[in-house]
Amino acid sequence: MSRYIRRYFYRLAPPASDIMRAGEVWKAVTVLFVSALATVSALLIARGEEEFFVLPFVVVALSVYFYVVYKRYHVELVPEGDLELFDDPGDLEILCAIYGLPRTGSPNRLRHRLAQFARVNSDSSFVWVAPKSLKRVASGLELSAEKEEQELPENLHEFVVRMVSDEPSGDRSRRPLVWGVRRSRSRLTSIASCPICDSEVGGRQAICGECGADLEFYSALAESKVGRRLVAQKVGQRYRKLR
Ligand SMILES: [Zn+2]
Repeated sequence: MSRYIRRYFYRLAPPASDIMRAGEVWKAVTVLFVSALATVSALLIARGEEEFFVLPFVVVALSVYFYVVYKRYHVELVPEGDLELFDDPGDLEILCAIYGLPRTGSPNRLRHRLAQFARVNSDSSFVWVAPKSLKRVASGLELSAEKEEQELPENLHEFVVRMVSDEPSGDRSRRPLVWGVRRSRSRLTSIASCPICDSEVGGRQAICGECGADLEFYSALAESKVGRRLVAQKVGQRYRKLR
């Protein structure tokens, strides 16, 4: 029975709204945090603590909370048109994980999922994300990737277009970068080591000779919060594989 109820709610709230839910999760958590802080402050004052001691404590706690939440969980959205630039399936998996989407399935499926997500959130260049555990506690409506695939069959036309566009597209080092950032000689020459494998690069080569990473692509990506997180996870995965 609960399966049908979940499906019903899932139809009402399409999968890409997961991050809208993340925004709502943070609203709920913030209300809880502020209420708890107000309660603690009231108790401290009731126990005789001076207000001039309690007030700065409240201000600091609120500032730290908002700074951490905003800094960590409000990240850039990779627009639908830029998803084709991510040709490593591992990158698509990491992006799905960052945005709180299921990270299982073929590269086409992952890209399709991210494209849907980007489409639903296309009115903003930033989106809220929340740890999966927090969302699960808050919503209790998490669904598996298998269910999502049943509910959202990829449109045949989109699938064909995607298959065609997944063909190798010539020189990788000439492709545009994410968010319309232009390639520049000065950026390339300023890269001293590969952002992925940390091997030294001469400042002229566009592709890392060690791991095959497009140096400018990952360097430009790492200038964003979501890119920094993607690169950090990619480096972590590589490190774990090498051990
Ligand atoms: Zn490398």
